[in-house]
Amino acid sequence: MSTPRLEIDLNKIYHNAKILVERLGGLGLSVTGVTKSMLGHPEVANTLLQAGVVSLGDSRIENIETMHEAKINSSMSMIRTPMLSQVERIVLNSDISFNTELITIEALSKVASKNKRFHGVILMVETGDLREGIMPEDLEEIIEMVLSLPYIELRGLGTNLGCRNGVSPDEINMNELSRLVETIESKFDITLDIISGGNSSSLNWALTGQDIGRINNLRLGESILLGCEPLYRKPIEGLYTDAFRLVVEVIESKTKPSLPWGIIAQSTFGEKPTEHDRGDITQTILAIGRQDIDFTGVNAYLDIDILGASSDHLIVDSSQYQMVVGDKVSFNVNYSALLQAMTSPFVIKTIIPVSNKTLK
Ligand SMILES: *Cc1c(COP(=O)(O)O)cnc(C)c1O
Repeated sequence: MSTPRLEIDLNKIYHNAKILVERLGGLGLSVTGVTKSMLGHPEVANTLLQAGVVSLGDSRIENIETMHEAKINSSMSMIRTPMLSQVERIVLNSDISFNTELITIEALSKVASKNKRFHGVILMVETGDLREGIMPEDLEEIIEMVLSLPYIELRGLGTNLGCRNGVSPDEINMNELSRLVETIESKFDITLDIISGGNSSSLNWALTGQDIGRINNLRLGESILLGCEPLYRKPIEGLYTDAFRLVVEVIESKTKPSLPWGIIAQSTFGEKPTEHDRGDITQTILAIGRQDIDFTGVNAYLDIDILGASSDHLIVDSSQYQMVVGDKVSFNVNYSALLQAMTSPFVIKTIIPVSNKTLK
């Protein structure tokens, strides 16, 4: 089998998605499966749908187009504020987009009208993490305009926390979102059907028995794929944290000193050596590098230490083992390493399909 490869176990992803869909469903929250880190991989998308997610969301129109072309049968949301230069592709390939700028929604309306194809809009509200979102005091004015735009359907409100500044979803910011929903509904005499209360970082809030107010949807990527919540990176009970396995190949293994010699300047990536002298070690080079992974986000199943990485080499201390050229070494990945490995054309993606036993 080719290396480096990322093995994607759909049985574990299915299990994780199903458990989260069931737990949150019991609380009145639906799940939108977020496929961006999978580049909209159709088989992963179908697995999420089999497990019960109500819709799919992605932040890149290319990924949504991939799923559209693969005839994935689901409502599709563009969850990043659209680029003006992509409004046509967004109207033609997605059902809903998440928006914060009137000028963009007007452009979506023009394309939607031209194509006689209704486009759903969810307005994102700023609740403190300072990424995307309309400031709450500006919301009414924008909604008034949005409601007048042809071929645009205002479907709901949403927010995003925990991403840029790690602001935690809690009773205060979530209640504020619910309160805004009520204010808007009564002022404009409308019903907002989707209230999307954030990403995987909202799980701690949702699963600890809070009053969820008007929130009825979460958008989940990392928690389904990696089985952990992103605020403290704690594993979620009952979920697999090893649905992905990165397998890489040894291309050199030699006894070498632990310290470099010669006149030391900076390395390719601007770092200075920080090793202390541990005498001779077994230094092994694996054929993967910074072009393919975030090397700080991979963790070997064997007891080996990562010493550093260049564009194409991952350098490890494997003194505990006898390694020979051609050996394979497996790693668990965090979200950052997963994103990069999926995006690297040099990493082969190997799908382990869902078995009937899993589906039972
Ligand atoms: C990436 C993203 C998500 C999913 O985040 P996870 O932490 O992976 O669950 C949800 N909403 C938006 C707007 C996103 O960009």
